[in-house]
Amino acid sequence: MAERAMVYEPDSILRKKADPVSDFGDEFQQLVDDMFETMYANKGCGLAAPQIGIGLQVSVIDLGEEPANPFVIVNPEIIERTGIHNMEAGCLSVPGAFAAVERSATVRVKAQDRFGKPFEIGGDGLLAECLQHEIDHLNGVLFIDHLQPVKKQMVQNKSRKFRRKNKLG
Ligand SMILES: [Zn+2]
Repeated sequence: MAERAMVYEPDSILRKKADPVSDFGDEFQQLVDDMFETMYANKGCGLAAPQIGIGLQVSVIDLGEEPANPFVIVNPEIIERTGIHNMEAGCLSVPGAFAAVERSATVRVKAQDRFGKPFEIGGDGLLAECLQHEIDHLNGVLFIDHLQPVKKQMVQNKSRKFRRKNKLG
């Protein structure tokens, strides 16, 4: 396994709709392992392939709960959503800045696992927020896009300062 380099906003790869995964072979398995390693190294609870510069529809997630439950969503699609919920959000591609984002309160997602087997997952709270955040990434959308323009600018500026100070990107 190897940690991969993070890509930061405003890199254009973060703005492209990722391609569906059709080859679940060795190279893809290596990518998934590397994504987990990169997510843990950066202390995130989710990482989408575009965040390491790969335009494929795959995200790794580990909400940091006990017992640990790391999982992978490939070619995911939200099939049901209910309610509205405000939740503080952050992103490894926009480090050092956080903001409350309005999301659906619960979601149900249809996806494939890392070997291509279909499954469904859903829930509320952090899981719902994380699933929506990750699926946004695969559609070229960042959490800051859900903010009012002035707030978005503030969060972008704060993150750019943070990255300069910490020599990221
Ligand atoms: Zn993110």
